[in-house]
Amino acid sequence: MTQAFKHNRYDVIIIGARCAGAATGMLMARNGARVLIVDRETKMHDTLSTHALMRPAVTLLDQWGLLPRIKAGGTPAVRSTQFHYGAEEIVVDVKPVGAADGLYAPRRWLLDAVLRDAAVTAGAELHTGVSFVSTITDQSGRVVGAILRQPDGTHQSVYADMLIGADGRRSIVAQSVGARTIQTSAHRSATVYTYVDGVPNQGYRWYFGAGTSSGLIPTTNGAHCLFTSCTPKAFHRWFGHDAFKGAMTILSAWEPDSVADLGQRGAIEKMRRFAGAPGHIRQCAGPGWALVGDAGYFKDPATAHGITDAFLDANRIAQALWATPGDARLYQAERDCIAPVLFDVTSKIASFDWDYDTLKALHMKLSLCMKAEHEALLPELPIAA
Ligand SMILES: Cc1cc2nc3c(=O)[nH]c(=O)nc-3n(C[C@H](O)[C@H](O)[C@H](O)COP(=O)(O)OP(=O)(O)OC[C@H]3O[C@@H](n4cnc5c(N)ncnc54)[C@H](O)[C@@H]3O)c2cc1C
Repeated sequence: MTQAFKHNRYDVIIIGARCAGAATGMLMARNGARVLIVDRETKMHDTLSTHALMRPAVTLLDQWGLLPRIKAGGTPAVRSTQFHYGAEEIVVDVKPVGAADGLYAPRRWLLDAVLRDAAVTAGAELHTGVSFVSTITDQSGRVVGAILRQPDGTHQSVYADMLIGADGRRSIVAQSVGARTIQTSAHRSATVYTYVDGVPNQGYRWYFGAGTSSGLIPTTNGAHCLFTSCTPKAFHRWFGHDAFKGAMTILSAWEPDSVADLGQRGAIEKMRRFAGAPGHIRQCAGPGWALVGDAGYFKDPATAHGITDAFLDANRIAQALWATPGDARLYQAERDCIAPVLFDVTSKIASFDWDYDTLKALHMKLSLCMKAEHEALLPELPIAA
């Protein structure tokens, strides 16, 4: 059935309605822009993710006024992070910032829905089941709109000052606008994850061993997301036959008691598999177009930073287009201040080619990147007279 768009022309058309697209649409609409968001999915199911939000993402949710909905949706606060390097354990406390009394790891069916609702409440027009087909350009080559496919197969041309691709890692918008690839990653990891019940909330727990890593992440409704990773080469050996058993074997190096218990009770949801994919940093701004989230910048999940980057992108592009309407170059410049460093750290962690001292140094660098990202979000302190 054809869904009628309210207008033929918008300030912004956003392709993709998950954490990058919905957040961008919400901020643009709050800035008074006429926003159209479309997503090809109709039901907006869960998506591949182990949910961990880092400090900048939680601060943004707080600044956007959405944290109460994440908490009310049953997502517990994470008040510490444990790093296990072989037998060594380091615990870092999570300090409260603003109304954020910890970190959070909401399920995507909650997080993405909260963002979409907020976008619609702010005045954005959202259509699901509608796919991006191609760009419309003017004689100078500037993108001026998009051809969209309705659920009944009919195509419709819609015009805008800015087309934003928030359509994920395999972005068709990026292909359509010819976004240049600036960097690709040398390494990738492979991951399986599921959900377990009955684990006490001891914060984020990250475990690193020889050629493997694992984690327990407290998520929505009292469950923990349990993940395990290895190199793509070792994926079949660990997870090819019985993925849950493989995951339990890896985790048992650090949590033998929990594993004995979990092994008996089993997982509460099916095992999800991600065999790994190369990371990319793409050109993320051009005449009449921009890319946010994984569409412009995809990293291995080894640093659990994709959603955080999606939010940072949303925040930066909304501010850049506010300052220079129709021109997203400032957005690209700001994104590229920290992105290449974090990208390189992520690729090195994903390689599993490290000893524990090297890994600790990589984590320290990652922490400094996140500190810089976070400080940029905080209001400037008044200068004492
Ligand atoms: C195994 C795994 C674990 C992860 N764990 C974490 C973690 O713990 N923490 C973290 O921060 N990040 C994590 N990530 C990364 C995180 O999931 C992504 O960075 C994030 O989902 C990117 O959001 P996005 O909105 O850019 O894209 P997506 O979530 O991919 O959404 C893109 C949307 O675009 C839509 N779309 C695509 N093409 C079209 C089209 N042609 N027309 C219309 N719509 C279209 C899709 O339907 C989709 O809804 C993980 C990733 C993986 C693979």
